[in-house]
Amino acid sequence: MSNAVLIHPQVDAGIKAEVTGFAGGTLTCACTSDAVTVAVAAQSAHNHVCGCSKCWKPADSLFAQIAVVSRDKVSITANADKLHIIDTNTLIQRHACKACGVHMIGRIENKAHAFFGLDFIHTELSSETGWAAPTFAAFVSSIIETGTKPEDMAAVRAKLTDIGLTPYDCLAPALMDVIATGTAKASGILK
Ligand SMILES: [Zn+2]
Ligand SMILES: [Zn+2]
Repeated sequence: MSNAVLIHPQVDAGIKAEVTGFAGGTLTCACTSDAVTVAVAAQSAHNHVCGCSKCWKPADSLFAQIAVVSRDKVSITANADKLHIIDTNTLIQRHACKACGVHMIGRIENKAHAFFGLDFIHTELSSETGWAAPTFAAFVSSIIETGTKPEDMAAVRAKLTDIGLTPYDCLAPALMDVIATGTAKASGILK
């Protein structure tokens, strides 16, 4: 059964290798006219598939695919007036197109958070190839919240492992360490 599980269009047909020296591209929303465009002037990092219920994903996709990039490398280049923030109370404020629903930027405004300065982006919205390849799966158990049956989880995790995306039920250890380091520095435990 595990091979029949579909994770995300960007990984199901084989994960494309990233290109050395790749320096960014343009993200375009799904609108056929007056599309929102976002210029990203850098390679992305920490690309992964995410099972949380908040990240934007294509129709019928089990997971989202999402990466980060320094926010100073990100600029909205067309139709910014079509964007709205879905929920200003979440750590990651997702700026989505009001017309097509695609999330263009996930931005952190909390300067105290370890991830402040990073924007979350969906590099599949770009026609350029060479973006950082996904390397792990985050918040895997959360797909139960959006309809996956608990008894199907073993097959999903087997598939993720099979295609090289180690499944985690929060973020990957390196990113959890970044968050905990920020917390420890803020409290003075870590100097
Ligand atoms: Zn749109
Ligand atoms: Zn997510």
